[in-house]
This record gives sequence, structure tokens and C-alpha cells, in this order.
Amino acid sequence: MQAGALYRLVRDRFRNAGVADPEPDAKLLVSTLLGIGISDLLLDASREVDAARVREIEEKASLRIGGMPVGRILGEREFYGRRFLLNSATLEPRPDTETLIDAVLRATSPDLPITLWDIGTGSGAIAVTLLAELPRSRAIAIDLSETALACAMENARQHGVADRFHPLCADYLEALDAGDGSGPDWIVSNPPYIRSSVLERLSPEVIDHDPRLALDGGENGLDAYTALIPQSARFLRPDARIALEIGYDQALTVEKQLRQHGLGEIEIIKDLAGKDRVALARKI
Ligand code: GLN
Repeated sequence: MQAGALYRLVRDRFRNAGVADPEPDAKLLVSTLLGIGISDLLLDASREVDAARVREIEEKASLRIGGMPVGRILGEREFYGRRFLLNSATLEPRPDTETLIDAVLRATSPDLPITLWDIGTGSGAIAVTLLAELPRSRAIAIDLSETALACAMENARQHGVADRFHPLCADYLEALDAGDGSGPDWIVSNPPYIRSSVLERLSPEVIDHDPRLALDGGENGLDAYTALIPQSARFLRPDARIALEIGYDQALTVEKQLRQHGLGEIEIIKDLAGKDRVALARKI
């Protein structure tokens, strides 16, 4: 079968099954499994695909129809123009989180030798991206899960930043010593922020495949901020900054918590959908 026809077959199966984004999902699945770029599905549509490969792609398409996101099927997801490997302990990085990357990059310079702490690093998408974009920076990437840290470390290797990437298995900042004045220039985090009661209502793509630990923010969705804002405030030296991903309705509460702990110059930044998504603040 030809690549173009195979793409159309998968797309039409997705459409008929009611998959939410049939075209992009079919393009990504088929092109990645063929080892070609998405544009090659059009430019090189007559490329022959052998029968075994067609069967493999059809089987993977069935997994998507069964509710598994394409990123999980492929074991990788693109974030800020780079591919990130995933495993069972890592959230699939979302485009929303690119808003946090842009906010940090706007507020710093690639010439500075800054230190970053990424709390709940997961696949390492935030820490690895910032290390790649800021070539003089170093990061401590913290996660409660060793399985997630192994994935993050592999992503750091793949993107050539492993020598500046330091994984640490810990519960937020509890293992770190606030007394020695060695706090970072930036604390960054995309913590779990979904209300426990809302979790069950998320689509099967999310709730059946993203780890609960990376999503569940407790009864009011704010447990992570309540723990990590006061901890972070102890480590941040005057002028150091924090960038937190937040839920669309959490800006007011998070802003209040930041102020209560001596952080100012608070900025709430919206994502591409126009929803509040990132809180930036500076220790004053
Ligand atoms: N943005 C994710 C979602 O809506 C949630 C990520 C998180 O809790 N940090 O599924």
C-alpha cells in the first residue's frame, strides 16, 4: 500500500470512530511509524509501505480508537520543538506548558549562568527545554518518582544537556537544606492542579494514561501550591524568581499565596487559548 493511501485509511477510521482530532492524530501516527516527516505524507505519498508495516500501523490505529493518545502509543511527544520520551510515571507534556517556557525565556538572558530547580519534573520537558535554550544554565530536576527521573535523564541525554541536568528523587524541596544560601535563580514547576472531584470527569485519554500523581491537586486543586510556595519562598534569594503553571481558575488564590510568602511583581500569563496558565513572581 502507498503511504498516502495508508494515511487516508487511518484518518477515515479515526473519523468514523469519533476520535477528537482525526487528521493530526493520523498524520502523526503514520508518519512517525514510517520514520518520515508529516509533510512527506503528501510530498512522498506514493512511497510503498510493506504489508507487515501496514498491519503494525493498523494495530496502533486501533489502540488510538480504543482511547490511547498518540503520544502514549509512540512513547514520545513533541514539546517546544523537541521530542520527549515518556513512560508510565510521566505526564504527556502539553502545549499549555510552552507558555511557561516562553515566560521564563522572556525574563532571562541566554548569556547568564543561571540555576533552575524544576519541581515535579516528570519527563523533564521543562528543565531539559530550558537547559537547551539557556546554554549556560544548570538545573536540579526533582521528582517523587524514580521512574520519572530515569525518563527525564534519558531526555536530558538525548538533547545534549545531561552534564547540566541533576536529577533528585525528593518530595518537593523537603530534602534540600535552606540554610546554606545556595538557592536557585529560578524555581519552575507544573505541579498537579486538578481538583480530585474533577479527575473522574476528564477524558479517558487523560485519566487512563497520565499518572494520577501528576494531575491530582487534592480537594480544591491547590494542595501542591500550598506545599511548594512556602517551601520555595525559603530558598529564593531576593530577586530570584518562580514560574508556576496553574489551572485556568486558580490565578487569584495562587497570587494571594505568593504575596503571603514575600513574593511580588506577580504576573499572570495566559495560554494560547486565552486562559490563565502561568504565575510569575519575584522574591522581594
Ligand atoms: N494540563 C493538564 C490537564 O489539563 C494538567 C496538568 C497538571 O495538573 N499539572 O490535563
